[in-house]
Amino acid sequence: MSRASTSSYSEVKLVVTVVHNFLTPLASPFTTPPHGHGSRAIALIPAGTTVATFGGLGLPRHEFDMYPSERRSRSIQVNLDLIFLGPQAREPGDSINHSCDPNCGMRNATSVVTMREVEEGEELTFDYAMSDASNYDEFDCNCNSVLCRGTVRADDWKLEPLRHRYAGYFSPYIQRLIASEKRGALLTKNDVELLMSSYDKDPVRALTQSLRKVFGMPHATWHTLIERVEHDAARRSLLFAHDEVSLDQLVSLLNETRGAGL
Ligand SMILES: [Zn+2]
Repeated sequence: MSRASTSSYSEVKLVVTVVHNFLTPLASPFTTPPHGHGSRAIALIPAGTTVATFGGLGLPRHEFDMYPSERRSRSIQVNLDLIFLGPQAREPGDSINHSCDPNCGMRNATSVVTMREVEEGEELTFDYAMSDASNYDEFDCNCNSVLCRGTVRADDWKLEPLRHRYAGYFSPYIQRLIASEKRGALLTKNDVELLMSSYDKDPVRALTQSLRKVFGMPHATWHTLIERVEHDAARRSLLFAHDEVSLDQLVSLLNETRGAGL
């Protein structure tokens, strides 16, 4: 290749845009100053239509927490310790707001589907309780629907009315949580005796067995169980590292809460 042709090639500005998120062409994003974003139908959207799909960078919680809050607000949780962080620049598919009376639900871990027919001009919304069970995106809600619960919290998926209303529209992750809760059981007197007698020999193994029963997760790892039991990041790290004092506190907690759940 001659020098001249190399030079002319280098003048071509090659711009590659990678889109992480999808928004149906039947909807369009809008902005409400100063910081509001959303998407609304620009035509009638039939029930059962996939309207948005979320992508992004898959991160465990401790890495996710290091990113700016604006970007973290454009994210979706797909597993206990896996969150898809939204792309650096906002994309059309990033703007599906929460509503306590939504017209959409989750089709799978990352896709949003209409639960009913959506009229032209209606805003597309889903309930964040359908997909998120971590406290990274809790807020006071003013969606103004008659069903508004006032706050959106990490454990809203536990609310019985929502479970009925959104049956079939929770993400697989939340469905697993609901199933594990149903399988979960309180520790009996015998369970606690077994825990205490085997604790000194191998505390992590003894606690793992008890927590698996409490959470109804028979194959869960220590890491997964601690994610469920401890929400404070610093205390969680100590338990991951098998810190003796933290393990002792956990075994006391299990002993004290016998029959009352965690
Ligand atoms: Zn609300």
